[in-house]
Amino acid sequence: KAFLSDRINGMATSATLAMAAKARELRNAGKDIIGLSLGEPDFNIPEFIKEEAKTAIDQNYRAYTPVDGYAELKEAIARKFKRDNGLAYGLDQIVVSTGAKQSLANVAMCMINEGDEVVLPAPYWVSYSDIVKLAGGVPVEVPTSIDTDFKMTPEQLEAAITPKTKMLWFSSPCNPSGSVYSQAELEGLAEVLKKHEQIFVVSDEIYEHINFVGGHVSIANVDGMYDRTITVNGVSKAFAMTGWRIGFIGAPAWIAKACTKFQGQVTSGANAIAQRATIAALDAPVSKIQYMIDEFQKRRDLILSLLKEIDGFYLNVPEGAFYVFPDISSFFGKTLKGTTINNASDFALYLLENANVATVTGEAFGNPNCIRISYAASEEQLREAISRIKAVV
Ligand code: PLP
Repeated sequence: KAFLSDRINGMATSATLAMAAKARELRNAGKDIIGLSLGEPDFNIPEFIKEEAKTAIDQNYRAYTPVDGYAELKEAIARKFKRDNGLAYGLDQIVVSTGAKQSLANVAMCMINEGDEVVLPAPYWVSYSDIVKLAGGVPVEVPTSIDTDFKMTPEQLEAAITPKTKMLWFSSPCNPSGSVYSQAELEGLAEVLKKHEQIFVVSDEIYEHINFVGGHVSIANVDGMYDRTITVNGVSKAFAMTGWRIGFIGAPAWIAKACTKFQGQVTSGANAIAQRATIAALDAPVSKIQYMIDEFQKRRDLILSLLKEIDGFYLNVPEGAFYVFPDISSFFGKTLKGTTINNASDFALYLLENANVATVTGEAFGNPNCIRISYAASEEQLREAISRIKAVV
């Protein structure tokens, strides 16, 4: 470790991946672990997308791809932005990457200077703060609570802004809270941002389609925001294509150009076969994936009804994504089966070791009172997991 860079030594291991690794370890040791820690749909990739990938292999797509993605894919992305988000992005404004995670890392490396502050409404997706720090930025967490559905208010945003603020990063629907910002709420944030011209926004919309209330709004579409927003999206969640690794951005052309320059030096263009398959995914009507969204909604309703029967779990109703984020701070200071619970990490570990259920501590998402439970699992697994949790708390 002494010979490793300060950069890597200063970085946290992804808490969700760490929990998954611990769960795997216990499973290998013979324990019957139910994994509700990962943000990964448990569906197969739809057949029409798989067919496209098979065709691409037979058509000998094999060579390096253009750094910013195949033109045909960028055209499909432009059509998707227009159709779903009312956003007009030209091909020079779109960059395809190896997952939205890489899209985010590209943006951080291209936009953030040493010491620049990045506002993160908390809870936020686990990797934001470490990606920002890697680029030399300073995450500025704005705590929200279950009382405001884990959403940041314009007043909170205003209070967090300093002359050093360079960006705001957020996801809607939100991982981990499932919260969805409405048009009016985004307009409220935009009003504040208009007073501070130096601030750019990363709008992470990867859960766009997994929305149970409808009316997804892109902040780039709010008056005055188009030229200062990087819209991030991808196919991992709605199309169950996590392992195929395709994400993308729509952004002002000068930002897209910088991201292409950066990506061209670190990874080059994304996987050829996955890009071809993504064309079919994005061109398909949303009705083709509706069965997965409907299933997620059924499971959300199920897990909420089961968790409500457990004393000490304080819940709101997530409107999208596939997580619940209960406030479990009522357990802090209590001793369960000889284990004293001091914080959310203790609680998550207690559930893993005593109920054999893997969840993730809210601390990883910047909220120390909650845990995140993914309901991307079968109804049977969810019922069993929650009944085990109930038994040990
Ligand atoms: N953004 C959010 C909010 C996510 O939850 C995830 C995945 O968990 C990602 C981005 C990364 O997605 P990808 O698989 O496209 O890298």
